Amino acid sequence: MSCADIRDEGYAYSPPSEDKGLVLRVAIGCSHNACTFCGMYRNVGFRIRDLAEILPEIREAKEIKPNLKRVFLSDGNALAVPTERLLQIMQRLKATFPVLATISCAARADDLLAKSAAELAELREAGLSLIYLGVESGDDEVLRSINKGVSAADVVRAGQAADAAGIDLSAMIILGLGGRKRSEPHALNTAAVLNALSPAMLGIMTLLPRVGTPLERLVACGQFERLDRKETLQELLMLLQRLEVRRPAILRASHLFNHLALEGDLPEDKATLIAQVQAELQKDPSTAKELTYKNYGIF
Ligand code: SF4
Repeated sequence: MSCADIRDEGYAYSPPSEDKGLVLRVAIGCSHNACTFCGMYRNVGFRIRDLAEILPEIREAKEIKPNLKRVFLSDGNALAVPTERLLQIMQRLKATFPVLATISCAARADDLLAKSAAELAELREAGLSLIYLGVESGDDEVLRSINKGVSAADVVRAGQAADAAGIDLSAMIILGLGGRKRSEPHALNTAAVLNALSPAMLGIMTLLPRVGTPLERLVACGQFERLDRKETLQELLMLLQRLEVRRPAILRASHLFNHLALEGDLPEDKATLIAQVQAELQKDPSTAKELTYKNYGIF
């Protein structure tokens, strides 16, 4: 994720693939705001923004980027915004930007499940074509431990609902989220959920607990053992070996914090991606940078 904008109410985060478009805050924060690893909106109260706040920003964006092609509706779970409000916003976006091709947002599985099939179809019709779904893990024990608030089965049902409406999914997962104890089930069950979802895009990140989050405190007091570089790569290898997507997908593990930057098309690049991880595992670990915020210049 990158920070696109600073306002009084924190940062508007957006996926790197949305960096060139407009990040439009339709809500502030995250209505769940309880995942133990997440520090994005920890000190930001959730609220749905009024149209009176949003419409001037759309007009302002038109002055700067009249040929805008992408809009990402933020913050953390824009799909928690009532359907009627989202439709009004998207209608205004479509009317303002004639070449707008993609409207996307981040969503939790329970947001998706709270919308009816008819609502999702209306949102698709109005232009919502891509949802970034924070899967994190396909392992129920890991999901419980991070307080995600949804189960693996919920995630699969949510993906099926998006699919039925014709909305593409970008699924995001986090290596190391089960720590040492749950590394193998995390890898295997996450692969199983991804296979069931068969998302158009698959984003792989690596756990780096943010200072001040509950998970960081568990790490500090020794109750959560983080994977080291080798263990993380082994987990990634296990995950890739089990991936059997039913449809073409773009896989990206190019986030700054990953031990190995990977990018490829599935299914055709699967063997190459696996070989890249295996080759990385053979390298001298003493040359690798330890995964800390300080080492990446973030304090
Ligand atoms: S649902 Fe997403 S934005 Fe909200 S707390 Fe969890 S990870 Fe953070």
